[in-house]
Amino acid sequence: MFQKMLIGGELVGKDKKGKRIKVINPSTEKTYAFVPKGTKKDINKAVAAAKKAFPKWAATSQKRRQDIVSKIADVISDNAEMLARLMVKEQGKPMPEALGEMAWTEGYLRHYATLSAKGRVIQNDDDFKIELRRKPLGVVAGICPWNFPVLVPFWKIGPALVAGNTIVLKPAPTTPVTILKILELCNGFIPAGVVNAVTDENDLGPVLTNHPDVAKISFTGSSETGKRIMESASGTIKRVTLELGGNDPAIVMPDVNVKETAAQIFGGAFLNAGQVCLAIKRVYAHKKIYDEFCDELAKLADEAIVGDGLQQGSTVGPIQNKEQYNKVKALIKSAKKDGKILSGGVVKGKKGFFIKPVIVRDVKDGHDIVDKEQFGPVLPVIKYSDIKKVGLAANNSDYGLGASVWSSDVKAATRVASKIESGTVWVNQVTNIGPHIPMAGFKASGLGVEQSAEGLEEYTQIQVMNVAR
Ligand code: NAD
Repeated sequence: MFQKMLIGGELVGKDKKGKRIKVINPSTEKTYAFVPKGTKKDINKAVAAAKKAFPKWAATSQKRRQDIVSKIADVISDNAEMLARLMVKEQGKPMPEALGEMAWTEGYLRHYATLSAKGRVIQNDDDFKIELRRKPLGVVAGICPWNFPVLVPFWKIGPALVAGNTIVLKPAPTTPVTILKILELCNGFIPAGVVNAVTDENDLGPVLTNHPDVAKISFTGSSETGKRIMESASGTIKRVTLELGGNDPAIVMPDVNVKETAAQIFGGAFLNAGQVCLAIKRVYAHKKIYDEFCDELAKLADEAIVGDGLQQGSTVGPIQNKEQYNKVKALIKSAKKDGKILSGGVVKGKKGFFIKPVIVRDVKDGHDIVDKEQFGPVLPVIKYSDIKKVGLAANNSDYGLGASVWSSDVKAATRVASKIESGTVWVNQVTNIGPHIPMAGFKASGLGVEQSAEGLEEYTQIQVMNVAR
């Protein structure tokens, strides 16, 4: 399979050695598709096409822009099964999760299609009419990671388009196929240049983010890359939205129903093989229930069925790419030294980047498996005795994306939750996100906000129209 890029309404790229990139199926480690090896010239062409399309798109009625976003949602819904299969081959997640990502993406797009960036009248009297207007910014650069190869790009495309911007998308180098296929299917009705996508081998991000004609960068990925993006934005004072990494704590109070809570925490930690920015990445369990809680998690880990996402019954897919697989393996090695592994581990003797969910007990703050973002199927469980101290431990991190507190006393849990420094804190639930709910990070987890009316505003520039009567 060879999937082309989209630049200025044209499908671009040659299926020729040296001009294409291999896309590896992480379940088989074999090449399953090729995409073009984008160049600096392609980025320049894509930005030029987006710049050219911008004035007409910005002047297009709000209703028409919303209709086009709705039509993208229709395309995803009409082709969900085929697209989900493609995604499993490049990303690895089990088919039900891939179908879920399609449904989620459709839902987000349907919501964006109801939004409009609204201004307001500040003053209107005999002397002045002063209005706040929200103008589109111009060309947006959308830079994406590999864990949600369709959802995350549309978290950018949806609001960018509704607000009247054009966009140049750079998918993650290891997961470009499904998003390019969707853009190909939409190419008949999205005006030329409004959405463009260029593929790379992890080398063109800076070319795009440094481009002087890019007005805003919307980035989702690691905090390290986020720092570099901020630097590159400074040249022309580009707007930036950064959705970065996390090390989300789950605080389990002693009065929980262990079985039910462990099941929910397991789900929140191992969705997409733990490759979720808002996954639970460390659990603090009270000493009274610690042993029972660890054992319950280990039981769930033992029951997990690790395998190719296309194989019926698989509940946990592979790690998406070799680099991440090696990173997670190194963390498991250090966890073995620092604590006790109760279940799971690297699957040996077969191809694919498979790791069976790992539960680690008897680890502490300061150990790598607790302090670092694992972004994989390994969950450390830390024992605590003083709820006041555990709040401090949870906050003792450079990250602050999400957190959760679990207790049968909702008020007590909410009191603990209020002290946590993170963009989202859940009580007795986790990863409940939606298009109407703002998503933001404290500290090194991000800058700005995505989703909701607040997220849409980030794709606009305030202009004050101050008219003397
Ligand atoms: P990454 O930062 O390595 O790469 C993300 C994207 O940035 C890729 O498309 C990459 O090619 C590009 N890139 C790399 N260097 C660049 C540079 N100097 N300039 C511009 N672009 C550059 O991240 P990843 O490994 O793909 O994703 C995993 C990370 O993403 C994790 O830390 C995870 O927590 C985070 N993430 C965050 C969210 C969120 O919403 N907060 C969502 C998903 C993933």
